[in-house]
Amino acid sequence: MATFSHSRLSSYETCPLRYKFAYIDRVKVEAEDTVETFLGSRAHEALEKLYRNLQFERLLSVDEVLAFFNREWEKNWNEAIIIVNKEYTAENYRKMGERYLKDYYKRHKPFDKGKILGLETTNTLPLDKEGKYGFYIRIDRLMDMGEGVYEVHDYKTNMSLPKQEDLDKDRQLAMYSLWVREQFQDFKKVRLVWHFLAFDKEMESFRTKKQLEDLRKDVLDEIQEIEATEKFPANVTRLCFWCLYRGMCPEWKHEVELEDKPENEYLQDPGVKLVDEYVKTKNELENHKRDAEAKLEKLKDALIAFCEKEEVSVVFGSENKISVKPYESVKFPPRNSEERETLVMLLKDIGKLNEVSDLDIHALSGVLKNRKWEKHDIERLSEFGIRETKHRLSISKHEKQVFGPPYDGPSS
Ligand code: SF4
Repeated sequence: MATFSHSRLSSYETCPLRYKFAYIDRVKVEAEDTVETFLGSRAHEALEKLYRNLQFERLLSVDEVLAFFNREWEKNWNEAIIIVNKEYTAENYRKMGERYLKDYYKRHKPFDKGKILGLETTNTLPLDKEGKYGFYIRIDRLMDMGEGVYEVHDYKTNMSLPKQEDLDKDRQLAMYSLWVREQFQDFKKVRLVWHFLAFDKEMESFRTKKQLEDLRKDVLDEIQEIEATEKFPANVTRLCFWCLYRGMCPEWKHEVELEDKPENEYLQDPGVKLVDEYVKTKNELENHKRDAEAKLEKLKDALIAFCEKEEVSVVFGSENKISVKPYESVKFPPRNSEERETLVMLLKDIGKLNEVSDLDIHALSGVLKNRKWEKHDIERLSEFGIRETKHRLSISKHEKQVFGPPYDGPSS
């Protein structure tokens, strides 16, 4: 049976390429912990310890729970653990963990609600009749609350709280509740409970039988889609900073290679040089373009002025000539102006709005230019059109003339 976990599916959903590295190519990378996952593991262990003792009728004091947490922290901490946010130290995170546990303990003491059925359980939920696919079930704490009511508890050390609607759509615990439903004959209801330790907050959700059956089908469809796909594109998000495969990912590999180089060597890297040169050239091109456009505008004005002064309409250069022809253009009041509203009223008044409403201002100019309407209507419309003279410049090659003697008939 091919078993898929929630994190395996999430891995595909967040980045198919990461999924390929982890689950298809099974690339072995030194599993570097981030401080966030390290803190999460230590908090889970401490709560597991608390509830394991309760199974043996022993209630640990909060100090004992904290002592266990700190012992495990010291024992497992190593310098390779990554702290992405450099503003904080390991000590900050350790103290956060202590606070999470103290708050949790205070809120739930004396821990006498329900019977513990399982801690950090490991099971598989079959997804199809053929037994080809299964879903990995790992419940932080499974509780029997009596009368067919069960609770699936999950501890979270996230630094942000989800919205209730996100939890109502959460796949992980819903799949766990599907397993619980199939596990116990007296089953009536399963409550999904998340403990957001950083906020000392508990959030709940619940699924109907129909929702769970739909979910089972969706999960199976997704697994079959993953099994069938041959494309695993990279999906760059902020999660990349926590990705163990950055060093081999085409989106980041070059940056990772540069990270270890000293500055003088870094600047000699051919990739760095190419990018710097490309950006510099592109900026130069854009600056040139801007300058050239400004220069062209000035030359255009100068040509118009030249034509007016010299009373010519074509100006000759060494290889090209430029004809400068005035043409009429009509400008109407812009959108959202008072004049525009008055113009619309007028068009309505004369029953012509439909004729131009799906046309643009150029069409309206066309009406004036071609004088297609009744004379009276054209006159009223003309009041809104501001006439101005513009110049259109066109460039073409001119052939040089070779001036010889006047033609006087065929030679004999
Ligand atoms: S670094 Fe980002 S884009 Fe690359 S594999 Fe990891 S998650 Fe995907």
